[in-house]
Formats: sequence, structure tokens, C-alpha cells
Amino acid sequence: MVDSRRSRNRCSFCGRAEDEVNFLITGVSGFICDGCAVQAYEIVQENLNRQRKNGVSSLSLDELPKPIQIKAFLDQYVIGQDDAKRFLSVSVYNHYKRLLQKNSGDDVEIEKSNIILVGRTGTGKTLLARTIAKMLHVPFTIVDATVLTEAGYVGEDVESILTRLLQVADYNVAEAERGIVFIDEIDKIARKSDNPSITRDVSGEGVQQALLKLLEGSIVNVPPQGGRKHPEQKLIQVDTKNILFICGGAFDGIEKKIAQRLNTHVVGYNAVRNTVAVDRENMMQYISPQDLKSFGLIPEIIGRLPVLTYLNPLDHRALRAILTEPKNSIIKQYIKLFEMDGVKLTFEEDVYEYIVDKAVECKLGARGLRTIVETIMMEAMYKVPSEHKDSFVVTLDYAKRELEKANIAKLQNG
Ligand code: ADP
Repeated sequence: MVDSRRSRNRCSFCGRAEDEVNFLITGVSGFICDGCAVQAYEIVQENLNRQRKNGVSSLSLDELPKPIQIKAFLDQYVIGQDDAKRFLSVSVYNHYKRLLQKNSGDDVEIEKSNIILVGRTGTGKTLLARTIAKMLHVPFTIVDATVLTEAGYVGEDVESILTRLLQVADYNVAEAERGIVFIDEIDKIARKSDNPSITRDVSGEGVQQALLKLLEGSIVNVPPQGGRKHPEQKLIQVDTKNILFICGGAFDGIEKKIAQRLNTHVVGYNAVRNTVAVDRENMMQYISPQDLKSFGLIPEIIGRLPVLTYLNPLDHRALRAILTEPKNSIIKQYIKLFEMDGVKLTFEEDVYEYIVDKAVECKLGARGLRTIVETIMMEAMYKVPSEHKDSFVVTLDYAKRELEKANIAKLQNG
């Protein structure tokens, strides 16, 4: 008996023998059982969470990335959109400053500057938000404004926006109260009068009014599981005073409103017409709060989004860059996919031009690039792993053939 006890491997932490646990993991000079490994994991998680919860408060301003560094980080992933990147970098940095401000007794309190990003769909608004989230030291979440409706209608209460933030902060209210929320598709809650959607306006002015409370800073009762507030659900109180809101929207058709405003402006002031040449190709750069109002946002909301910036439509050059330049560009992703099969994937240079031309043709912007590359590569991804090749070259002929084949198939299916 004694001998057999000696020969049995034991967990170096709890001392239990091999046959008393599910399994033992072998280390250099000992063992750990599955039970102790799970416990160790939990201890590590707890510690990490504690460190994370200390978040920004445990950092000094010197340690936080400066706006130029934040922008440089964004540059690695997002092509162009310099103005939006600059505005965003400064706003995030100022957000940190506000969180770190000590009561200096001089009555100067830095107020928050919520941001609104306006730009056509597929120009990088969400990508910017996601990228900046990678380097943040505060809880961050992306929510979609389209699901929000006025209280009493089918949909979600505006307060559910904060549920997501609470979840990201592991329900640590203090931490959530310093977070950043990206509200996507803010244009979808514009007033109906000027809005192409005619189906309902429950997500119109009423939602904007409800959102206003969040943006301006107030104590909000948040349903911990989201959705509708139930009378029996225990609500969590969250103060939104220090939460930074970044809103994004395509505002389809706003360029017309900008043009109208500029036109009347130009007619009124001859001097302006003579000195400023309006770039009609990119009206978005002239966007002003007035245009948001004409689009259907209520002035109070606009007032609470003092930083207004825009994203440029993506031209041929930008699309070409998006294809290969970002750190995780589409092409790099496919090269990696093939690499995992031991295949070196290369593209002939004119294939890139062809892909971009097609994306422009289909008016799909950057979103189209992926669809087109996926279509071109499908056949190769199907066959190459079984072919024991060590390289694969995508030529222009191959790309054309694959895309045309797919188009024909689509036509046939239609
Ligand atoms: P939006 O939120 O403006 O509708 P997204 O940020 O979701 O657009 O962009 C869709 C996709 O297009 C992204 O995942 C990304 O691959 C690509 N993309 C769009 N704009 C850019 C850009 N400026 N730089 C790099 N990739 C971009």
C-alpha cells in the first residue's frame, strides 16, 4: 500500500493522487490536477480584472498615449480620413484628461466633448471606433441606434446602450461611468419629416429626447440584462456625466443639404463665392451642425455633440491602398490563409487594379473589396489545400475568369 502511494503521481498543489482527479498536467518538477488548474485560472482572472478595473485611475497622464501617438496607431489600420482621426485622437486624449483631473480648486472643470462622425457607409467609421478601442484603457462598446425605440414600442429602450457598457466593465459601475460608447447609425433616429424611412417614427424625436439625457450627463436607471425595463427587474444606476459618446452615421442625402446651404450662402455673399472654390466632388467636408438639423436631428442633440467631423468617400487610390496597406489588409489575410497550408500566395500587380475597378464599378466601396477578393479566391481555396503546391500566383486572367464565372453563375441562379 505504502509503495503504491509512493509510485502514484500526485498534484503538487492539493496532494491528490492521479486516480483521485480527472487528470494531472505534468510540469518540470511536479504536477497540477485539473481542479487546481481551474482554481489557479480563476485567481489569475480575478487579479487581471482588479488590474483592469483600476484602469486609467492607476495611470498618469505621462503614460497615456498622446494624440499624435493615437493617430499613428490608427494610421496602421485605417487608410486616409486624417481629419476624423485627428478629431478622434484629441477627443479620446481629452477624455482621459477629464478622468484624471484633480479638484484643483480653480473652478475650471473640463467638460466632455462628445463626437459625431459623418460619412458614407463603408468609409471606415466603425473601423475607426474598433481600432481605437484596441488601445483604450477604459471600457468601450459599440451599439446600434437602429434598435432603439421610444419607451412603450417594440425595440430597445435607450438605456440599454449602457447595459452593453456595464457588461464590458463586468458590471463595475464606477468603471462603466468612465467608458466610451460608439453609437452607430445615429442618422436612423432623425425626425421622419426629412427622413426617407416612412414606416415609423417611434425611433424619431422621442428617441432623440431620451438619448439627450444620456449625452448631457444624468443618473440613468439601466436594465442589467438590456432590452425592455420590466417592473420586476432590478435596475442599476449609472451616472453618464463622464461617459464619452462617439456617434457615427451615413446621413444619406446630407450632401444635398450641404450644397443647398452653400448655394444660398454663396448667393448672399458674393465675396465668399469669389474666394472659396467649392469642391463639389466631396461636399461632406463642408458639413456643419446646421446640416444635421436640416437632416432631422434636434438642436439639443446637436448641441451635445460639439465635435463634428467627416469621413471622405473612398476614391480609387484609397481603395487600392485599403486592399494591401493596413496591418490586417484583405490581401494580407488571404496570404496568411494560404501560408497555413504551406502555400506562398502572390498576386500580379494588375490584379489589384482590376479588383479596385470592379469595386468602384459595383459602387460597393471598401465593403465590396472583400466580396470581390473572396469570389476570385474561392476556387483556389477549395482546391489548393489538397494539391500539395508550394506557391499560387493569381494572374489577371485568372482573376477575370473567376469573377466572370461567379457572375454568370449568379445570373443563372437569378
Ligand atoms: P462604416 O462604419 O463607415 O459604414 P466600416 O468601418 O464598417 O464602414 O467599413 C467597412 C469595411 O471596409 C471595414 O471593415 C474595412 O475593411 C473597410 N474600410 C472602410 N474604410 C476603410 C479605411 N478608411 N481604411 C481601411 N479599411 C477601410
